[in-house]
Amino acid sequence: MTPAGSPSNGPAPQVTAYVALGANLGDAQAAVRQAMDALDRLPQCRVARRSSLYRTAPVARNASGPADGPDYINAVVALHTRLPALDLLDQLQALEQAAGRERSYPDAPRTLDLDLLLYGNARIDSARLTVPHPRMMQRAFVLLPLAEIAPERVSTAQLHAVAGQPITRLG
Ligand code: ADP
Ligand code: MG
Repeated sequence: MTPAGSPSNGPAPQVTAYVALGANLGDAQAAVRQAMDALDRLPQCRVARRSSLYRTAPVARNASGPADGPDYINAVVALHTRLPALDLLDQLQALEQAAGRERSYPDAPRTLDLDLLLYGNARIDSARLTVPHPRMMQRAFVLLPLAEIAPERVSTAQLHAVAGQPITRLG
């Protein structure tokens, strides 16, 4: 017998995670497409589905009014991964850093934002990571691309709740 959790127990299980991508500086569409490719190259990760790209006006964190900056390009991918959730967050943050992100103030424009929306059916509440992402259900720019590639993960009521938010699906 080997102790539970030892490497000889075999590979970690594969989990389907959903990652939201957003960018609103420079060539935001190119940044999101390149980030999708970069996610596919992460260790123990494979992009299984990609949503369309969507365009939205920036929204403040508390949704009380507009935020600064040009329109956002948003998308969601399904990621098959064997990385533990916190290791995946590390990888997402490294990709953000590599994209030259600077956070000068809350809701500042950014070259690339990568949020972990869902990690299988896990519920995680730690200092660095909350899953499901706490604000995802309020955001059309998350729910619409998520519903496009994973309709079983978004309810009609949830879509109805964000139906008033202007958003354009790009061709
Ligand atoms: P936001 O995406 O909400 O605009 P940031 O990208 O600046 O904000 O994230 C701020 C912090 O949120 C990160 O340092 C990260 O540790 C934390 N965080 C908590 N839960 C998540 C999650 N599910 N996905 C991404 N970051 C998360
Ligand atoms: Mg983020």
